[in-house]
Amino acid sequence: MKFAAISPYNAISKRAFPEHVVVYDSTLRDGEQMPGIHFTLDQKVAIARKLDEIRVHQIEAGFPAVSDGERKAVKSIASLNLDSEILCLSRTLTADVDAAIECDVDMVLLFIATSELHLRYKLKMTKEQVIEKAVVAVDHARSHGLKVSMSSEDSTRSDVGFMLDLFKASAEAGAVRLGITDTLGCAGPEAVEYLVRKIRDSIDLPISAHLHNDFGLAVVNSIAALSSGAEAIATTVGGIGERAGNVSLEQLVMALKHLYKKDVGIRTEGLTDLTKLVFESADLSIPANQPWVGPNAFSHESGIHVAAVLNCPLTYECVNPEEVGNRRRLVLGKHSGSHIVVNRLEEKDIKASQEQICDIVRAIKRAGEDHGRISDDEFWKIVDGILKPGLGLPDCSEDKE
Ligand code: MN
Repeated sequence: MKFAAISPYNAISKRAFPEHVVVYDSTLRDGEQMPGIHFTLDQKVAIARKLDEIRVHQIEAGFPAVSDGERKAVKSIASLNLDSEILCLSRTLTADVDAAIECDVDMVLLFIATSELHLRYKLKMTKEQVIEKAVVAVDHARSHGLKVSMSSEDSTRSDVGFMLDLFKASAEAGAVRLGITDTLGCAGPEAVEYLVRKIRDSIDLPISAHLHNDFGLAVVNSIAALSSGAEAIATTVGGIGERAGNVSLEQLVMALKHLYKKDVGIRTEGLTDLTKLVFESADLSIPANQPWVGPNAFSHESGIHVAAVLNCPLTYECVNPEEVGNRRRLVLGKHSGSHIVVNRLEEKDIKASQEQICDIVRAIKRAGEDHGRISDDEFWKIVDGILKPGLGLPDCSEDKE
């Protein structure tokens, strides 16, 4: 009998994906727009190098018009000659485009809002003015030899007819990619599919999607976008970014690889180190339960789970932790059973009787009830106290039945 690691029912999926899925990572731009986050130039360069090392296809390195420092960072990253293409964000303003030109990036990501809300309360512009401004900016960038992607901001709350008008005008002006954005993360997968299909059916250009995670659906929405005709997805490491963040790079890559058998060519074994680098640079800790890269992603405490995992890891791990550069942790606490104790003693060639093992387990459970997780030091003190009771360490004999 063949054991399944991943649910075999995933095979019923009818979703088809483009041959070349493009991951364009925005950790250095949208990720850094996470409130309170600032990366230094050195940190940005280190993150860009690591993204390149794991073969992320495109890196959105920043928004040069924001500040001199930002411009310097984008310029430095563009001059590293990485295999990843270097992109930067730009409003449809001549000065912004000039900043992008100065940075010598491979492609500029132009954006302008298309929703009535943004037109009235932010841009204070008519639809005609928006299209005119976009065309002027595309022209300006193109005339300086820059490849252009045009995104409609707030696409998921925009009139689709107007969005298509903007895209058609941008395509005629020479844009080579069109982007939809779920700026507020307020669309579900069907809405994203609908918008992507609408563009795909009327304009023959690659489509990208920049999706937020306010309803926790960013990864699902990105899968919907890819399987309905988009080819590029903006991600961030650990899903960091504005408000609830963006599509998490590692979650998207792993879901495509395992649930949909679509390998996008990213070296997944570097994902945990990359996440550590980004979170350390941002002065954040990786949430314990972060999928794939969190410290608990492959941790087991329950005695039942530990016993099974020691026998065959597939019982409670559908992917080998090494595949994402993470590791298995067998955690000692109130849920522990005897297998972990036997395993730890065997590793150090320590002999103990059945009775002593039971005593150790009881002591661990009692300590776990008292204060949760038990450290290695505490474990070995408990073991010493039971195997060498003369040393004045805790005597657990009163617990015996
Ligand atoms: Mn965003």
